[in-house]
Amino acid sequence: MSKFFNSKYAKLTPYTPGEQPQDMQYTKLNTNESPFPVSAKAVKYVSEAAEKLQLYPDPECRQLTQKIADYYGVGFENVLLTNGSDEILNFAFMAFCEKGAAFPDITYGFYSVFAELNGVEYTEFPLNDDFTVKLDDYINTDKTVFIANPNAPTGIALKLEEIEKILRSKPNRLVIVDEAYVDFGADSAVNLTKKYDNLLVIHTFSKSRSLAGGRLGYGIGNKDLICDLNTIKYSTNPYNINRLSAAAGLGMIEDDEYVRENCQKIIDNRTYTEKKLAELGFTFTNSLANFIFAKHPLVSGKEIYLELKKRGVLVRHFDKERLTEYNRITVGTKEQMDILVKTLKEILEEKI
Ligand SMILES: *Cc1c(COP(=O)(O)O)cnc(C)c1O
Repeated sequence: MSKFFNSKYAKLTPYTPGEQPQDMQYTKLNTNESPFPVSAKAVKYVSEAAEKLQLYPDPECRQLTQKIADYYGVGFENVLLTNGSDEILNFAFMAFCEKGAAFPDITYGFYSVFAELNGVEYTEFPLNDDFTVKLDDYINTDKTVFIANPNAPTGIALKLEEIEKILRSKPNRLVIVDEAYVDFGADSAVNLTKKYDNLLVIHTFSKSRSLAGGRLGYGIGNKDLICDLNTIKYSTNPYNINRLSAAAGLGMIEDDEYVRENCQKIIDNRTYTEKKLAELGFTFTNSLANFIFAKHPLVSGKEIYLELKKRGVLVRHFDKERLTEYNRITVGTKEQMDILVKTLKEILEEKI
C-alpha cells in the first residue's frame, strides 16, 4: 500500500476473479463463460463500429437500450446498460443502500465487496443446510435485498411466487434480483418490474449471450430507479458502454435464436454431465444455471480441484467453510464435458 492510499479503503479485500492462467491450454470450466462464440452478425457489427472508434459512443446507448426494451416488452426509460452487470451492481450499492444491504452468506462474492467499498452496512443471512434461502429473513428485513436468482455458486433458484412474496411484504424496501443465470432454466422476474416499483432486475450478456469479453450488463426497473442509476452513471462514467461492445450486444440480441439454441445445448449438457457425475458417486445441488456445484463423498473438493488443474481441467473451488467440499463446474460443450468426466474418472481411480 502506498502512503497515498485513502485510509477508508485500507481494509478492503477486493473480489478475486476466477483464474485466467496463460501457462497452458486448459479445458476452462471455471468462470461460467459461454463455450460458444458470438454470432457472425455480432462480429460484422463490431467491425463496422471499429471504423468509427475516433468518435465517442452514444452516452445513452439508444439503439441497444431500445432493442433490449423491445425484447422484454418494457420502455426505453426502464432500461440502463452498464459495463458488465458488475457495474450496475456497484451503482445499486451506491444509490440504494442507505439503510444497509442484505444478502445470503453464500452468494456472488462481489456483493460484500461492493458493500465494503461503498461503506454500506450489510447482513449476510445464512442459507439453510441444503443451500436454500430462508424466505422469512428477506421478508422481514428493511435493508435493500440482493438476491442472485439462480444463486451462485449453488445454481438453486427461487420461484417467482417467492420473489413476489418478498416484494409484497415491504413495498418501501427495494429488492434487486441478479439474474445472471436466468436463461438456463429459471423464471425471470422482469415482468414483475411492471407491477412493482421496488424491484430492479439485473442481467448480463456475459453468460448466455457469449459476451463475457465485451462487458455488457443492464438493469430493468421502474423509471425512477433507472433515473437514479443514471445520476450515478453520469457522475462516474457517462461513456460506460464502448462502441464495440454496444455493436456486439446488438448483434447478439438480433441473433436471439442462436442464443436460445446455445442455452438449450447447455441445459442438455448439464443433464448429461449430472448423470455421468452421479455414476462416479458425485452429489450436486439442483442447478438451473450453466454450472454444476458438485462434491464427492471420498475425495475432498480441494484435492479434486488441484488434480483436475494438474491434468489441464480448470474448475472453480472456494475455500469458504461451507463450500470447501464442492467445486463449481461450468457446463461447456459436450466435448469439454467428456474431457471433464474422463479426467475425474482417472483421478478417482487413483485416489480411492
Ligand atoms: C457473472 C456474474 C455477474 C457479473 O457479470 P458481468 O456482467 O460479467 O459483470 C453478476 N452476478 C452474478 C451472480 C454472476 O455470476
